Amino acid sequence: MLADPAPGAEASAAVDERILVLAPTGQDARLLVTAIGDAGFSAEVAGSMANLAATIVAAAPNGPGAVLIAEESLSDAGLGELVVGLAQQPQWSDLPVLLITGGGVISPARARALESFGPAGTVTLIERPFRAMTLVSAISVALRSRRRQYQVRDYVTREREAAVALARKAAELEASNAELEQFAYVASHDLQEPLRMISSYLQIIAKRYGPQFDDKATTYFGYVTDGASRMSAMIKGILDYARVGNKRRPVEDTDSADALGNALKNLDQRIGSVGAKLEIAPLPRLRADPILLSQLFQNLISNALKFCDRPPVIRIAARREENEWIFTVADNGIGIPADSTHLLFRIFQRVHVGDKYRGTGIGLATCKKIVDLHGGRIWFESVEGEGSVFSFALPA
Ligand code: ADP
Repeated sequence: MLADPAPGAEASAAVDERILVLAPTGQDARLLVTAIGDAGFSAEVAGSMANLAATIVAAAPNGPGAVLIAEESLSDAGLGELVVGLAQQPQWSDLPVLLITGGGVISPARARALESFGPAGTVTLIERPFRAMTLVSAISVALRSRRRQYQVRDYVTREREAAVALARKAAELEASNAELEQFAYVASHDLQEPLRMISSYLQIIAKRYGPQFDDKATTYFGYVTDGASRMSAMIKGILDYARVGNKRRPVEDTDSADALGNALKNLDQRIGSVGAKLEIAPLPRLRADPILLSQLFQNLISNALKFCDRPPVIRIAARREENEWIFTVADNGIGIPADSTHLLFRIFQRVHVGDKYRGTGIGLATCKKIVDLHGGRIWFESVEGEGSVFSFALPA
């Protein structure tokens, strides 16, 4: 919405609000200028038609506020000259023209000439005899509508520029994200190779020389192996993270129950080993990437299984809210302390560390990336010691 400008502060910086006055005699012109000036407007005598046209041209970029012309000062040719002058500067076609007529009927030739000023609304006829009030209010109306036009034009221009800038920024961001993903992918892929060599030689050393290790060497060797396997998990995590969206597939009609089923197949062994109970409500069909949706379920359920110190009970459900499907994965796990929730969806952020809860801190970042790619949202609520509910919304 454009706010109505306060009186007096109305003039946009770009608008020249002078009224150019063209009258048959200097005396007439001065009278008009005085009347207009008394009402608080700035007015100027144009002198001649040529002078008027030149002043309009010079008052760049928007022209003067309005022109006030006494009809007797215009020959048909003079009017034509003005029309031509304005037509050469199309952006001035909205210049308000106030024409003081002698009263009576306007000749057809004159009417046609007047019409060619552009939108008929820009020409206002003021018939003689008129009162100063009539003139002043015609000028006010003309200036106000002109100001309004400029406000609207400025507003539209600003909006358009903002939209263009936004689109450019979005394209830049997308390009830089793609580059970063590619970099992460290549780097982690290439890091796997030397790490594989380190790991296999660690195994050979353990097998061949392990029995000769003293206690200290055994402990240190344990740290080295542990470090190598953690590094391997992280590299794999980064690779998985970079892979999401690397080969972008179009979304398709997907049964989310099937996507969940595939995730559960991969977690089958772990579910069995911790004696987890799963309660699954009916799940909808929607447009999604089934592989990514499955990965999303798998990461969330894997966390629900991991961050739990009693037999896990995991409830998976979905509900429709307006034009979204809200999925929830609720657990009865250890929960997340309230002060550590803000960064959880960032890569490598972990709350529970130590041997009991191993991980890389990439799972939830991957979930966020998958949800983002679908144009959705992800969040959670948690009570420490009671459990967490991870929710994600996908467009229905
Ligand atoms: P990872 O599981 O590899 O540690 P994630 O990115 O999946 O990494 O999770 C980040 C952190 O969020 C975890 O380290 C854990 O502290 C916390 N978290 C995630 N899911 C749960 C959950 N269901 N219950 C409690 N804490 C969780």
